Amino acid sequence: MNPQPKLNSLDNLIFDNRFVNELPEDQETRNYPRQVLSACYSRVLPTQVTNPKTVAYSKEVTELLDLSEQVCHSEDFAQVFAGNRLTAGMEPFAMCYGGHQFGNWAGQLGDGRAINLGDVINSQGERWALQLKGAGLTPYSRTADGLAVLRSSVREFLCSEAMYYLGAPTTRALSLVTTGEQVIRDMFYNGNPKAEPGAVVCRVAPSFIRFGNFQIFAARGDLALLRKITDYTITTHFPHLGKPSIDVYLAWFEEVCRTTAQMIVHWQRVGFVHGVMNTDNMSILGLTIDYGPYGWLENYDPDWTPNTTDAADRRYRYANQPACAFWNLAQLGNAIYPLIGKAKPLERALNVFTQVFAEQWQFMMGNKLGLNQFTSDQDDELFAELLVLLQSVEIDMTIFFRQLAEVELGKSNLEDVNVETLIAPLADAYYVPKQLTSEYVSRLLDWLKHYNQRLLQAGISQEIRRETMNRVNPKYVLRNYMAQLAIDKAEQGDFAMIAELLELLRHPYDEQPEKQGYSAKRPDWARQRAGCSMLSCSS
Ligand code: AMP
Ligand code: MG
Repeated sequence: MNPQPKLNSLDNLIFDNRFVNELPEDQETRNYPRQVLSACYSRVLPTQVTNPKTVAYSKEVTELLDLSEQVCHSEDFAQVFAGNRLTAGMEPFAMCYGGHQFGNWAGQLGDGRAINLGDVINSQGERWALQLKGAGLTPYSRTADGLAVLRSSVREFLCSEAMYYLGAPTTRALSLVTTGEQVIRDMFYNGNPKAEPGAVVCRVAPSFIRFGNFQIFAARGDLALLRKITDYTITTHFPHLGKPSIDVYLAWFEEVCRTTAQMIVHWQRVGFVHGVMNTDNMSILGLTIDYGPYGWLENYDPDWTPNTTDAADRRYRYANQPACAFWNLAQLGNAIYPLIGKAKPLERALNVFTQVFAEQWQFMMGNKLGLNQFTSDQDDELFAELLVLLQSVEIDMTIFFRQLAEVELGKSNLEDVNVETLIAPLADAYYVPKQLTSEYVSRLLDWLKHYNQRLLQAGISQEIRRETMNRVNPKYVLRNYMAQLAIDKAEQGDFAMIAELLELLRHPYDEQPEKQGYSAKRPDWARQRAGCSMLSCSS
């Protein structure tokens, strides 16, 4: 098969803008913050910026769009993906949606600083919606400015791609462009505003529709629009379900419950904490969306959240993510209830989340231990004991699972083994060596014996176990301090580390010995530094 010819001009992208063609638009054409009624979106132009410069782009995403390398290096690329020029076929708009923020209904939110450019149909016939984040004011900007700063844009750009390569469903990032403008931000909302460099990320996904796109019309009692956007979503993004009907609405909701459960299992597997799981940040396609104050578990603390804005309640802490996803799905269920008119089948569909999450979580945990089969009566206890052990002292989650594959198991019954030699591969995972008391070591050994028994019984060799484990336990994740170092340099005009991290995170399961430093545990200086252990919604 001949490779598809690459596009040498952004004007050759082919758009099929179904969202704007099929759904009702806002009749007000002036761009100022307001309530937008009886419409799914508002047409809006990106704000012009003075000096757009491409800082980074993701090669694989440019390939999804069939773009040649030459286009990506062109001045036009920076102009277009900063929002300064529309190419033929682009029809920019901002979506109207609502949402529950931290458990409370917040009314209309909408694309306050995201401007959709339209849907590209690529040479494979795939639909890829393009969206600029930080391209200026929209009718949904409320009291804010519609802009994004470099710091949060670097974080969104790198993490979208890192998540993709980790195998977690996510929106993608095409480009990161600085605007040449300064943006004022009070990072911790404590009266210390500061000018920061502005930036725009172009995000890419089959769709950016969120739970909140349905909730807004239900909350307003606008059933006609609720039905329209639901039918649109099903026919465009879930065509395999067939022509919309009550049964199809239910099947659709069940599918959203299933894909959301799968997404959360991936988050738990890699130690990702989203930080702001509001219903406006939940993708209808089960994609991780809106990278704000997210973080990665370093020492395994189920109560941890990176988001200082959520410090009091810790609603969106690591261990609570499955429950929050369920709660959010229940809100989506409530929103579409008027289309169905029966609560029982909706509840049944919602319970699919619980079932799928439980099954896939067990399977995932089994995989993290190199087990190819899960048996509840044996493995529930094995997992539960491990989770207790992981919390009893400060252990780096990523290093622990990766290095567990190096502990020699599956050969003997460990009765005469030298404990120190046995657990030596785990040494790097501990933050506080003096916590390795003899009591702790003996509990660890007990657990390793239990695990070893299980491996012997299943006949799993060291080699096979390592292979299975290294496919699901990443060596490299985007630790907050790494992103922060890249940001510090970027703010000085040096973008090399962004490229370096992007390359590193394209192969998170590979050893990459020359990059070993990035697999080490969080350095001490990062423990309490802003951006490393603490983040806010200010971005
Ligand atoms: P988030 O918590 O980032 O998902 O944002 C919640 C809502 O606030 C969404 O409607 C965003 O579009 C909006 N928003 C966040 N930051 C800004 C900003 N700088 N300008 C305008 N709207 C914003
Ligand atoms: Mg959001």
